[in-house]
Amino acid sequence: MGLQVKKNNISCDLMIIGAGMAGVAAAIFAARNGIDTVQAGLTGETLYASGLFDLYGVSHSPTRELIDDPWQGLRQLKKKNPEHPFSLLSIDQIRTAMDGLTKFMEDVGQPYKGYPDKNARLITSVGTIKRTYRVPETLWEGVKALEKKEPCLIVDIQGLRGFSAIQMVESLSHSWPCLAAATINLSWDNRLGPKYAEHIARGLESESARMEMADAIRPHLGDAKTLGLPAVLGIQDPLGVCRDMEKKLGLPVFEIPTMPPAVAGVRLKEAFDIHLPRLGIQTFFHHTVHTVRHQKDERFFLEVGRTAPEITVSADVVLLATGRFLGKGLISDRKGIREALLDLPVSQPDHRRYWHRESFLDPKGHAINLAGLEVDDSFRPITARGLPACPNLYAAGSILAYQDWIRTKSGTGLAVATAYGAIEAIKRTGK
Ligand SMILES: Cc1cc2nc3c(=O)[nH]c(=O)nc-3n(C[C@H](O)[C@H](O)[C@H](O)COP(=O)(O)OP(=O)(O)OC[C@H]3O[C@@H](n4cnc5c(N)ncnc54)[C@H](O)[C@@H]3O)c2cc1C
Repeated sequence: MGLQVKKNNISCDLMIIGAGMAGVAAAIFAARNGIDTVQAGLTGETLYASGLFDLYGVSHSPTRELIDDPWQGLRQLKKKNPEHPFSLLSIDQIRTAMDGLTKFMEDVGQPYKGYPDKNARLITSVGTIKRTYRVPETLWEGVKALEKKEPCLIVDIQGLRGFSAIQMVESLSHSWPCLAAATINLSWDNRLGPKYAEHIARGLESESARMEMADAIRPHLGDAKTLGLPAVLGIQDPLGVCRDMEKKLGLPVFEIPTMPPAVAGVRLKEAFDIHLPRLGIQTFFHHTVHTVRHQKDERFFLEVGRTAPEITVSADVVLLATGRFLGKGLISDRKGIREALLDLPVSQPDHRRYWHRESFLDPKGHAINLAGLEVDDSFRPITARGLPACPNLYAAGSILAYQDWIRTKSGTGLAVATAYGAIEAIKRTGK
């Protein structure tokens, strides 16, 4: 069936609600399968993202082991936790999903790197070491330098909040002894008050700004073999900016993710905003789905608009990727946790008093973080009786129950893998 636009009415095969990582990944997979798709939603948590594609960094179990081989870790998880959304997918499917997202990023000029079978380790702006599956290529030299413990200079920029080179060097002195710190000033960003990573990044898209930055760094290089900078190396072509800094300074340069909201999130958002429509997805970013009407076994009718309904979309199939509390897919009040749009059943503790454990940092995590939609093998939300709430309604991403992506460092992995699973299931129905 073709995508038709009539005045304020649109008809499509698939409507994706949500434009966080799960919604975006679903749109990419739907486009690759030639499914006529409309997508609506705000950017979601992507804008807060560090740009790292986590898959599985810390075990789901209360012991919270750090995971070096995510595939081995996922096999264990699937064995012990059949209700976890990752368990609805094979290892090959999860791998294909992650490769699909990486390929998209490469196609849009923001390539990612990683090891096929192990997590990469990299330093963060708070001076810790983080495991993740794929990193923007502009971070890769940092992964290699940490592995070899090479002499490395970390530079911060006067006025840039939340990124202190000296603090990082002090915190990392045991795990990476030959790190040095320096601070530079950028005269072209002479706004009064704090400096923002996005302003600096947009500034560094100009050659003269890069020249000045390189001149300011050069006297501090000493015997450094690598240079770490806050992730401010441009928005549209960060790899080009990074390579240019390497040429100017004569050594490998890498970015270190900054605190949210970070430039990495802006880069992702711009890549999705520009390139999803090019794949043929009709996008309504910064739009909300206000209401969903549906009669048993029939098409959905969705009212979409910025602050009030502007367009009606009718769709054969709906994929709900509305996130958790931050995305507003789930809402909590004194009575409990509700699914915001269709009032679908939410798996949750019997009473609010069981939502949290006493200690905020309890290694077992909190029951509220496992609340969400229970789905069948085809990623269709189910009722208390275990039947699909609706035969042509699917869900993906952090709204799903029985997973705690924050604890397990699996934000992108869970969103992308479940989006892949849902699209594969939709494909099988032939809609
Ligand atoms: C601070 C922070 C940093 C993070 N860093 C990383 C990281 O480094 N690596 C990593 O892998 N993961 C990271 N994540 C996690 C990752 O961003 C999330 O796991 C992932 O975005 C979840 O995706 P989602 O699409 O399920 O939900 P969300 O991102 O919450 O997206 C939900 C979407 O649904 C939309 N929506 C809700 N209701 C409606 C409606 N009625 N109509 C239309 N749209 C609606 C929202 O606007 C939003 O677009 C981070 C998250 C946060 C908060």
